[in-house]
Amino acid sequence: SAGLAEADPEVAALLGRELERQRGQIELIASENFTWPAVLEAVGSVVTNKYAEGYPGKRYYGGCEVVDEIEQLAIDRAKELFRAEHANVQPHAGAQANMAVYLGLLQPGDTVLSLRLDHGGHLTHGLKVNFSGRLYTIVHYGVSRETSLVDYDEVLALAREHRPRLILCGGSAYPRTVETWEFRKIADEVGALLWCDMAHFAGLVAAGLHPNPVDDCDVVTSTTHKTLAGPRSGFVLCREEHAQAIDRAVFPGLQGGPLEHVIAAKATCFRFAASDAFRAYQSQVRANADALADELMSGGLDVLTGGTDTHVLQLDLRGTEWTGKDAEERLHEVKLTVNRNTVPYDERPPTIASGIRIGTPAATMRGFDEEDFREVGRIIVGALADGAGAVDIAALAARSVALCERRPLYPGRAAFPAF
Ligand code: PLP
Repeated sequence: SAGLAEADPEVAALLGRELERQRGQIELIASENFTWPAVLEAVGSVVTNKYAEGYPGKRYYGGCEVVDEIEQLAIDRAKELFRAEHANVQPHAGAQANMAVYLGLLQPGDTVLSLRLDHGGHLTHGLKVNFSGRLYTIVHYGVSRETSLVDYDEVLALAREHRPRLILCGGSAYPRTVETWEFRKIADEVGALLWCDMAHFAGLVAAGLHPNPVDDCDVVTSTTHKTLAGPRSGFVLCREEHAQAIDRAVFPGLQGGPLEHVIAAKATCFRFAASDAFRAYQSQVRANADALADELMSGGLDVLTGGTDTHVLQLDLRGTEWTGKDAEERLHEVKLTVNRNTVPYDERPPTIASGIRIGTPAATMRGFDEEDFREVGRIIVGALADGAGAVDIAALAARSVALCERRPLYPGRAAFPAF
């Protein structure tokens, strides 16, 4: 049968262009990564052909004997990797994993206490136009104006006042450790369930470089495509007492047939994430984030909280003439891909924002080390040196391209840690 180039040259050309785009710029979006060729192979496999509504051993379709084994492998590996009592690996993405918690553990109207979106939360944590904000009563805690860290006195006061059924910790742009044990004390005091969304830092947890939220939380959700570097997908971990509620929420509550080809890729991702090579990769992600934060601060830029404990840092541009939007565009011109992000107490709307979120997982997967990230830091400082004129865009872009050429992406399997 015809390959894609022959069958659909238009789409094949677009895929080729996207590969060149990924190769030719430095990916600094904190939620992205480059997955392994083995994961791409599993996602592109014949398993995509199979319907498998239900769970291993309890399907509503025949011919599931092989996918049962695939899914069980993914479940067992997820449980072992994160030391969890129960895992559901069927959510199609992070948002679906989060929906399963709301649907499985709450009634519409129940109160949830979560991190404000403009302080680093996620839209599934209660944005008004998201299902979460429409169907549940959301109360938000924020970070302190002085330190940009979670203010536990505020969390406790809000928990006492609103008596949430569930407290949610974790987010999309919080650069510091998510201290689940602090939230646990508060949840216990007010009789709430505790949920951590570790979508961003799950890879660090797997590598033992961030405390494991499973130890403190009733339920933990995640994506598999950010620091975990796997396929674009999600999963839920929980205590045994919530297993049935979560499973029923995912299927038949929210989804039909699971994407067993993606579940196969998740199994591979979990296998890799248990390896020494993955631990070395995540240590490099952390070292690179520290090196980048240091270089940016040496260059006179303001890094929120003075650095990071994770893979992500936030540039606070409020002391400069840059908006997040303009800075994002300028960095794009010098071949650095980032995203604008609000900083806590931002006076600009999210479409403009006063911050830039920067992450190290993707470039680290290409092989970037601390010295490479110091050079990235110098390019950023140079690009944002002055609002107008003076900056030699072409020279800075050439320095980014030189880094890309030194650390090639795909095929270049050797650029990946040996798994
Ligand atoms: N949770 C957090 C904390 C996230 O940052 C994200 C994605 O950015 C999600 C959930 C949603 O994941 P997905 O985009 O796969 O639905």
